[in-house]
Amino acid sequence: TKTINLKSRPQGAPALTDFDFTTSENPELQDGEVLLATKYVSVDPYLRGRMSDAPSYVPPFKLNEPISSGIIAEVLESKSTKFTTGDKVIGSLQWKETQVAKEQGLSKVDPDKAPLSAYLGIIGMTGLTAFLGLREIGKPKKGETLLVSGAAGAVGSVVGQIGKILGLRVVGIAGTDEKVEMLTSEFGFDEGINYNTTENMAEAIKSACPDGVDIYFDNVGGEISDAVLFNINQFSRTIICGAISVYNKTEKPKSLSVQPFLVKKSALMQGFIVSDYADKHAEAIQQLAEWLQQGKLHASETIIEGFDNIPQAFLDLFEGKNKGKMVVKV
Ligand code: NDP
Repeated sequence: TKTINLKSRPQGAPALTDFDFTTSENPELQDGEVLLATKYVSVDPYLRGRMSDAPSYVPPFKLNEPISSGIIAEVLESKSTKFTTGDKVIGSLQWKETQVAKEQGLSKVDPDKAPLSAYLGIIGMTGLTAFLGLREIGKPKKGETLLVSGAAGAVGSVVGQIGKILGLRVVGIAGTDEKVEMLTSEFGFDEGINYNTTENMAEAIKSACPDGVDIYFDNVGGEISDAVLFNINQFSRTIICGAISVYNKTEKPKSLSVQPFLVKKSALMQGFIVSDYADKHAEAIQQLAEWLQQGKLHASETIIEGFDNIPQAFLDLFEGKNKGKMVVKV
């Protein structure tokens, strides 16, 4: 079976040469194990962090070993009492066409309830991140202004839609005119800003958020977030969900002294990691699935076809080639 390994740790932006393909035989199935065929692979910005060896909240990938991420697979053979042939399962699995996996850590997904890929996105980690980050740290109140960066991406597009369900004014920041147009036409945002064509971001944010920013859901960090700080309101809440604009930087970031802004506005800024809220996942998924069924949430995806294209799909996240959740269909 074909496998994708981490060949070298990226320096700056990751490249195709950081990956290599090998083939090997699957070991014989033992009790409590299943043989799986990969169907959908999630590629995510946080995998960039695991490709370097800096300590983080998830351990780094090992060199010359398979990369893993969220995967939906079909059970081909089972020596498990929990799963039978034909079942569809989700788990953190390796980038392999087929693999033997232990039953622990896998859960069944129901293809009749939602398209399989949605379990990696809006009713999976993406949806949980959007919903719990906004609710637990953002503490939204009707009528407030929510600003979202990375707004047309997987997490951002869901944050904005939930913001509208909760009665907020929602403004999004994205990298192309087409994405900015999608923010209002597809995801119901009130306004969008293209950070690539806007010269003065702080001014643009000010005019899009005339009452200031009460909640900032930050997916990108860097200069975009610096511009937001000039517009935060007293008692505002900032959810630091990700910082994709700095993941590939090799030089030390220039320090912007954010402390005076936070002091002046009695503002909160808090990091968020979705796995820290595991006790709330079941309830959150139920709410997301209900909104999806009621048509209040819209699942947007960019689906790339073919196992061999997984590394390229991952690289494309850093070029903004995706709209909504980036998923590879095998
Ligand atoms: P996205 O679907 O948002 O994909 C990445 C997007 O980031 C691209 O489409 C691109 O959109 C934008 N981008 C890329 N480079 C830059 C840059 N230099 N400056 C500004 N924007 C850039 O990915 P996800 O929704 O999966 O993840 C969004 C963020 O949330 C990431 O930072 C990720 O690490 C984080 N995350 C955190 C979790 C947690 O528990 N803390 C869980 C899941 C995600 P554009 O064209 O607009 O530039």
